[in-house]
Amino acid sequence: MDPAIELAARLLFAAAVFAIMAAWEVWAPRRRLAAGRRSRWPGNLGIVVVDVLTVRLLVPTAAVGASLYAAGHGIGLLHYLNLRLSVAALLGFLVLDLAIYAQHVVFHQVPWLWRLHRMHHADLDIDATTGVRFHPIEIVLSLLIKLGVVAAIGAPALAVLVFEVLLNATSIFNHSNVRMPPPVDARVRWLVVTPDMHRVHHSIIRAETDSNFGFNFPWWDRLFGTYRAQPAQGHQGMTIGIDKFRDPAELRLDRMLTQPFRDDAGR
Ligand SMILES: [Zn+2]
Ligand SMILES: [Zn+2]
Repeated sequence: MDPAIELAARLLFAAAVFAIMAAWEVWAPRRRLAAGRRSRWPGNLGIVVVDVLTVRLLVPTAAVGASLYAAGHGIGLLHYLNLRLSVAALLGFLVLDLAIYAQHVVFHQVPWLWRLHRMHHADLDIDATTGVRFHPIEIVLSLLIKLGVVAAIGAPALAVLVFEVLLNATSIFNHSNVRMPPPVDARVRWLVVTPDMHRVHHSIIRAETDSNFGFNFPWWDRLFGTYRAQPAQGHQGMTIGIDKFRDPAELRLDRMLTQPFRDDAGR
Protein backbone atom coordinates (compact mmCIF):
# COMPACT_ATOMS: atom_id res chain seq x y z
CA MET A 1 0.00 0.00 0.00
CA ASP A 2 1.18 3.50 -0.82
CA PRO A 3 2.20 5.03 2.54
CA ALA A 4 0.57 8.30 1.42
CA ILE A 5 -2.84 6.58 1.19
CA GLU A 6 -2.39 4.95 4.59
CA LEU A 7 -1.39 8.28 6.10
CA ALA A 8 -4.33 10.08 4.48
CA ALA A 9 -6.79 7.45 5.79
CA ARG A 10 -5.35 7.73 9.29
CA LEU A 11 -5.42 11.52 9.24
CA LEU A 12 -9.01 11.60 8.02
CA PHE A 13 -10.18 9.17 10.70
CA ALA A 14 -8.21 11.00 13.39
CA ALA A 15 -9.73 14.33 12.30
CA ALA A 16 -13.24 12.88 12.61
CA VAL A 17 -12.55 11.50 16.10
CA PHE A 18 -10.95 14.80 17.06
CA ALA A 19 -14.03 16.77 15.95
CA ILE A 20 -16.32 14.50 18.00
CA MET A 21 -14.15 14.68 21.13
CA ALA A 22 -13.64 18.45 20.85
CA ALA A 23 -17.43 18.91 20.65
CA TRP A 24 -17.91 16.58 23.66
CA GLU A 25 -15.31 18.64 25.60
CA VAL A 26 -17.39 21.78 25.03
CA TRP A 27 -20.66 20.02 25.82
CA ALA A 28 -19.52 18.17 28.97
CA PRO A 29 -16.03 19.17 30.17
CA ARG A 30 -14.42 17.14 32.98
CA ARG A 31 -12.16 19.88 34.37
CA ARG A 32 -11.81 23.62 34.08
CA LEU A 33 -8.71 24.12 31.91
CA ALA A 34 -5.86 25.84 33.77
CA ALA A 35 -4.06 27.30 30.75
CA GLY A 36 -6.97 27.12 28.32
CA ARG A 37 -7.17 26.34 24.63
CA ARG A 38 -5.92 29.54 23.06
CA SER A 39 -2.45 29.28 24.59
CA ARG A 40 -2.11 25.55 23.90
CA TRP A 41 -3.87 24.56 20.69
CA PRO A 42 -1.58 26.40 18.21
CA GLY A 43 1.46 24.54 19.61
CA ASN A 44 -0.29 21.18 20.03
CA LEU A 45 -1.78 21.24 16.53
CA GLY A 46 1.37 22.79 15.02
CA ILE A 47 3.48 19.87 16.27
CA VAL A 48 1.18 17.44 14.41
CA VAL A 49 2.08 19.16 11.14
CA VAL A 50 5.78 18.98 12.03
CA ASP A 51 5.39 15.29 12.99
CA VAL A 52 3.58 14.31 9.79
CA LEU A 53 6.12 16.14 7.59
CA THR A 54 9.08 14.65 9.51
CA VAL A 55 7.76 11.11 9.13
CA ARG A 56 7.04 11.62 5.42
CA LEU A 57 10.56 12.99 4.88
CA LEU A 58 12.56 10.51 6.98
CA VAL A 59 10.74 7.18 6.95
CA PRO A 60 10.11 5.72 3.49
CA THR A 61 7.46 3.26 4.62
CA ALA A 62 4.64 3.09 7.13
CA ALA A 63 3.90 0.16 9.41
CA VAL A 64 1.56 -1.48 6.87
CA GLY A 65 4.42 -1.38 4.35
CA ALA A 66 6.63 -3.26 6.81
CA SER A 67 3.91 -5.87 7.22
CA LEU A 68 3.56 -6.36 3.45
CA TYR A 69 7.36 -6.58 3.12
CA ALA A 70 7.52 -9.19 5.88
CA ALA A 71 4.71 -11.17 4.25
CA GLY A 72 6.41 -11.03 0.83
CA HIS A 73 9.69 -12.29 2.26
CA GLY A 74 8.24 -14.84 4.69
CA ILE A 75 9.67 -12.96 7.70
CA GLY A 76 8.09 -12.99 11.15
CA LEU A 77 7.00 -15.42 13.83
CA LEU A 78 3.32 -15.54 12.85
CA HIS A 79 4.17 -16.72 9.31
CA TYR A 80 5.74 -19.87 10.75
CA LEU A 81 2.75 -20.70 12.93
CA ASN A 82 0.36 -21.08 9.98
CA LEU A 83 -2.56 -19.58 11.91
CA ARG A 84 -5.89 -18.53 10.46
CA LEU A 85 -5.80 -14.92 9.34
CA SER A 86 -8.30 -13.84 12.02
CA VAL A 87 -6.23 -15.45 14.79
CA ALA A 88 -2.96 -14.05 13.43
CA ALA A 89 -4.54 -10.59 13.13
CA LEU A 90 -5.82 -10.72 16.72
CA LEU A 91 -2.45 -11.92 18.04
CA GLY A 92 -0.63 -9.29 15.99
CA PHE A 93 -2.88 -6.58 17.38
CA LEU A 94 -2.32 -7.73 20.97
CA VAL A 95 1.46 -7.97 20.61
CA LEU A 96 1.61 -4.52 19.00
CA ASP A 97 -0.39 -3.03 21.87
CA LEU A 98 1.85 -4.73 24.44
CA ALA A 99 4.91 -3.40 22.57
CA ILE A 100 3.54 0.16 22.71
CA TYR A 101 2.91 -0.25 26.44
CA ALA A 102 6.46 -1.54 27.01
CA GLN A 103 7.91 1.24 24.88
CA HIS A 104 6.02 3.83 26.93
CA VAL A 105 7.42 2.40 30.19
CA VAL A 106 10.96 2.49 28.75
CA PHE A 107 10.49 6.10 27.58
CA HIS A 108 9.74 7.00 31.21
CA GLN A 109 12.72 5.10 32.62
CA VAL A 110 15.63 5.91 30.29
CA PRO A 111 16.73 9.53 30.93
CA TRP A 112 17.43 10.58 27.30
CA LEU A 113 14.18 9.01 26.10
CA TRP A 114 12.29 10.73 28.91
CA ARG A 115 13.72 14.05 27.61
CA LEU A 116 11.89 13.40 24.35
CA HIS A 117 8.70 12.02 25.92
CA ARG A 118 8.40 14.60 28.71
CA MET A 119 7.30 17.17 26.11
CA HIS A 120 4.05 15.19 25.92
CA HIS A 121 3.75 15.57 29.70
CA ALA A 122 4.67 19.27 29.76
CA ASP A 123 1.21 20.28 28.53
CA LEU A 124 -0.39 22.32 31.33
CA ASP A 125 -3.82 20.85 30.61
CA ILE A 126 -4.92 17.58 29.11
CA ASP A 127 -7.46 17.55 26.29
CA ALA A 128 -7.92 16.01 22.84
CA THR A 129 -4.95 17.96 21.43
CA THR A 130 -2.63 16.50 24.08
CA GLY A 131 -3.28 13.13 22.43
CA VAL A 132 -1.32 14.24 19.37
CA ARG A 133 1.33 16.29 21.21
CA PHE A 134 4.52 14.28 20.72
CA HIS A 135 8.03 15.39 19.84
CA PRO A 136 8.94 14.51 16.22
CA ILE A 137 12.01 12.55 17.33
CA GLU A 138 9.80 10.43 19.63
CA ILE A 139 7.38 9.92 16.74
CA VAL A 140 10.16 8.72 14.41
CA LEU A 141 11.67 6.47 17.11
CA SER A 142 8.29 4.90 17.90
CA LEU A 143 7.63 4.32 14.22
CA LEU A 144 11.00 2.58 13.79
CA ILE A 145 10.29 0.41 16.86
CA LYS A 146 6.84 -0.39 15.46
CA LEU A 147 8.30 -1.33 12.06
CA GLY A 148 10.70 -3.66 13.87
CA VAL A 149 7.93 -5.30 15.91
CA VAL A 150 5.66 -5.68 12.87
CA ALA A 151 8.45 -7.36 10.88
CA ALA A 152 9.57 -9.55 13.81
CA ILE A 153 6.12 -10.97 14.48
CA GLY A 154 4.95 -10.80 10.85
CA ALA A 155 1.70 -9.09 11.84
CA PRO A 156 -0.91 -9.20 9.05
CA ALA A 157 -1.33 -5.90 7.17
CA LEU A 158 -4.98 -5.67 8.19
CA ALA A 159 -4.12 -5.90 11.90
CA VAL A 160 -1.42 -3.27 11.49
CA LEU A 161 -3.72 -0.86 9.64
CA VAL A 162 -6.53 -1.27 12.19
CA PHE A 163 -4.02 -0.88 15.00
CA GLU A 164 -2.59 2.34 13.55
CA VAL A 165 -6.02 3.85 12.94
CA LEU A 166 -7.28 2.86 16.41
CA LEU A 167 -4.13 4.04 18.19
CA ASN A 168 -4.64 7.56 16.85
CA ALA A 169 -8.32 7.45 17.76
CA THR A 170 -7.88 6.06 21.28
CA SER A 171 -5.08 8.51 22.01
CA ILE A 172 -7.34 11.44 21.12
CA PHE A 173 -10.21 9.83 23.08
CA ASN A 174 -8.32 9.06 26.27
CA HIS A 175 -6.63 12.46 26.45
CA SER A 176 -9.87 14.36 26.03
CA ASN A 177 -11.34 16.50 28.78
CA VAL A 178 -14.75 14.86 28.72
CA ARG A 179 -17.11 13.98 31.53
CA MET A 180 -18.40 10.43 31.60
CA PRO A 181 -20.69 9.12 34.35
CA PRO A 182 -18.47 7.14 36.81
CA PRO A 183 -20.41 3.85 36.38
CA VAL A 184 -19.94 4.12 32.60
CA ASP A 185 -16.23 4.93 32.99
CA ALA A 186 -15.82 1.95 35.34
CA ARG A 187 -17.22 -0.40 32.69
CA VAL A 188 -15.54 1.14 29.64
CA ARG A 189 -12.11 1.05 31.30
CA TRP A 190 -12.15 -2.74 31.34
CA LEU A 191 -12.05 -2.63 27.53
CA VAL A 192 -10.26 0.56 26.60
CA VAL A 193 -8.25 3.22 28.44
CA THR A 194 -10.66 6.02 29.44
CA PRO A 195 -9.93 9.75 29.82
CA ASP A 196 -10.14 9.48 33.65
CA MET A 197 -7.68 6.59 33.59
CA HIS A 198 -5.10 8.28 31.37
CA ARG A 199 -5.43 11.64 33.16
CA VAL A 200 -3.75 10.03 36.19
CA HIS A 201 -0.69 9.55 33.93
CA HIS A 202 -0.50 13.33 33.36
CA SER A 203 -0.42 14.16 37.09
CA ILE A 204 2.53 16.24 38.35
CA ILE A 205 2.97 13.65 41.14
CA ARG A 206 5.83 11.34 40.12
CA ALA A 207 4.20 8.06 41.22
CA GLU A 208 1.07 8.93 39.25
CA THR A 209 3.06 9.94 36.14
CA ASP A 210 4.64 6.48 36.27
CA SER A 211 1.31 4.66 36.12
CA ASN A 212 -1.38 3.89 33.52
CA PHE A 213 0.99 3.57 30.55
CA GLY A 214 -1.55 1.87 28.28
CA PHE A 215 -2.99 3.57 25.19
CA ASN A 216 -5.52 1.10 23.78
CA PHE A 217 -6.06 -1.80 26.18
CA PRO A 218 -6.02 -1.17 29.95
CA TRP A 219 -5.05 -4.79 30.70
CA TRP A 220 -1.25 -4.40 30.58
CA ASP A 221 -1.29 -1.90 33.45
CA ARG A 222 -3.38 -4.23 35.57
CA LEU A 223 -1.22 -7.21 34.61
CA PHE A 224 2.14 -5.54 35.30
CA GLY A 225 1.10 -3.60 38.43
CA THR A 226 1.23 -0.09 36.95
CA TYR A 227 -2.53 0.51 37.24
CA ARG A 228 -3.75 3.40 39.38
CA ALA A 229 -7.51 3.89 39.50
CA GLN A 230 -7.76 7.60 40.42
CA PRO A 231 -5.46 10.57 41.15
CA ALA A 232 -4.84 11.15 44.89
CA GLN A 233 -6.06 14.74 44.70
CA GLY A 234 -9.09 13.97 42.57
CA HIS A 235 -9.67 14.91 38.94
CA GLN A 236 -10.61 18.48 39.84
CA GLY A 237 -7.84 19.05 42.39
CA MET A 238 -4.90 17.39 40.62
CA THR A 239 -2.21 19.42 38.84
CA ILE A 240 -1.46 18.48 35.22
CA GLY A 241 2.06 18.62 33.82
CA ILE A 242 5.63 18.27 35.09
CA ASP A 243 7.69 20.41 37.49
CA LYS A 244 9.91 21.70 34.72
CA PHE A 245 8.45 23.85 31.93
CA ARG A 246 5.49 25.38 33.75
CA ASP A 247 6.00 28.76 32.11
CA PRO A 248 3.12 29.30 29.64
CA ALA A 249 5.76 30.40 27.08
CA GLU A 250 6.77 26.71 26.96
CA LEU A 251 3.48 25.96 25.19
CA ARG A 252 4.82 27.63 22.04
CA LEU A 253 5.77 25.34 19.17
CA ASP A 254 9.42 26.45 19.01
CA ARG A 255 9.87 25.95 22.77
CA MET A 256 8.19 22.55 22.58
CA LEU A 257 10.66 21.46 19.90
CA THR A 258 13.70 22.52 21.94
CA GLN A 259 12.51 21.15 25.31
CA PRO A 260 14.41 17.84 25.03
CA PHE A 261 17.69 19.72 24.58
CA ARG A 262 17.26 22.07 27.49
CA ASP A 263 18.32 21.34 31.06
CA ASP A 264 16.09 19.10 33.06
CA ALA A 265 16.34 19.76 36.76
CA GLY A 266 13.31 17.58 37.46
CA ARG A 267 15.18 14.32 36.88
ZN1 LIG B 1 4.03 9.09 29.43
ZN1 LIG C 1 -0.67 11.06 27.53
